[in-house]
Amino acid sequence: MDSLPTFLRLQGRKCLLVGDHTNTQTLIASVMRTGAQVTVIGNDAVPSDGVVTIQRNFNDTDLIDCWLVVSAFDDDARNRAVVSACEKKQIFCHVTGNPGQGTAIIDTLQTASASGRQFSSALTAEPLSTPPSTRVSLVGAGPGDPDLLTLRALRLIQSASVVVYDRLVSTSILSLCNPAAQFIYAGKAKANHALPQDSINELLVELAKTHDSVVRLKGGDPFIFGRGGEEIETLTDHKVSFQVVPGITAASGCAAFSGIPLTHRDHAQSCVFVTGHLRDGQINLNWKDLRDPTQTIVVYMGLTGLRSICETLIKHGRDPHTPAALVEQGTTTAQRVLASTLNELPQLVEQTDVGAPTLLIIGGVVSLREKLDWFGASQ
Ligand code: SAH
Repeated sequence: MDSLPTFLRLQGRKCLLVGDHTNTQTLIASVMRTGAQVTVIGNDAVPSDGVVTIQRNFNDTDLIDCWLVVSAFDDDARNRAVVSACEKKQIFCHVTGNPGQGTAIIDTLQTASASGRQFSSALTAEPLSTPPSTRVSLVGAGPGDPDLLTLRALRLIQSASVVVYDRLVSTSILSLCNPAAQFIYAGKAKANHALPQDSINELLVELAKTHDSVVRLKGGDPFIFGRGGEEIETLTDHKVSFQVVPGITAASGCAAFSGIPLTHRDHAQSCVFVTGHLRDGQINLNWKDLRDPTQTIVVYMGLTGLRSICETLIKHGRDPHTPAALVEQGTTTAQRVLASTLNELPQLVEQTDVGAPTLLIIGGVVSLREKLDWFGASQ
């Protein structure tokens, strides 16, 4: 181990959190509990009680009088710049989501309050089906909120020696991983794969030779549009032992958090998950099968092709007035739901500034959301 487990007495001392709002949020409460004087700097920083909030970019003079810094950008280069500025001034810096990048590691599981303690005690419970001894675990991280991880996923990320993760794995989940693990970003932004799939498959085989606990961490569920099958096929070919840990897929997460039951006796007797990913500008789906009015359709990766999907469904006989909703950043505090009809949703989405990830849900069940939207109502 090249780090010294340490407790810091921060009461009355200036601690600085810089970065993107949703990422800084995950640590504010923990740092506040120590009695530190917390300053948050970020373009999208949101004022909160007891915190000095400054809405602008970070600069080196912000480090004056600081004892500890947390850098929480999604962008690696910006985190590196903060770490390097801290290094020059000999101030320790923790990087959320990539603990290996900084000079300090805050153990977020220990710092989490009551819910953290519950996590820890739940983790001491014996699993009912003990996983076989495995080198590689293909782990579903769920749709974003760490509270939606399975206990097995949490157990495994806490003890992993290397974590290979995707873009969709949230920073707050990465912060729960073993801080001493090696972190490898396997990427996957649309049309901008950080690592091609074949290289990821081979990488897992290579890592399994030198690490006894490789975690391949994927957004949602590894077997739903996650290419998990391809990764374990390669492991099988190389006789590497593995296990698969299911995660909450985006469809379940987004549906639950937007008050849209995917099936309902009055509206939908079946539900289908399809990909809206364009191949050579085309979406290849079995459109005729999708016109059944009693079937809910959930479209993953459907934002770019949204207009084409809606129009083609109508062309093949789905009622233009069918309720349809686009769920953006489902299950997170930034979740937004645009609800309309098959006919009108494309225009609504085009007029709104929508960003990935988004999930499209089509069918009569969407109309229930007006009554059942518990999450939006609680925000
Ligand atoms: N294996 C993942 C899906 C990977 S494909 C799963 O089971 O959820 C990536 C697509 O999932 C995104 O383009 C988006 O359509 C959807 N997605 C994942 N997380 C999401 C979220 N939090 N909110 C909305 N859509 C999400």
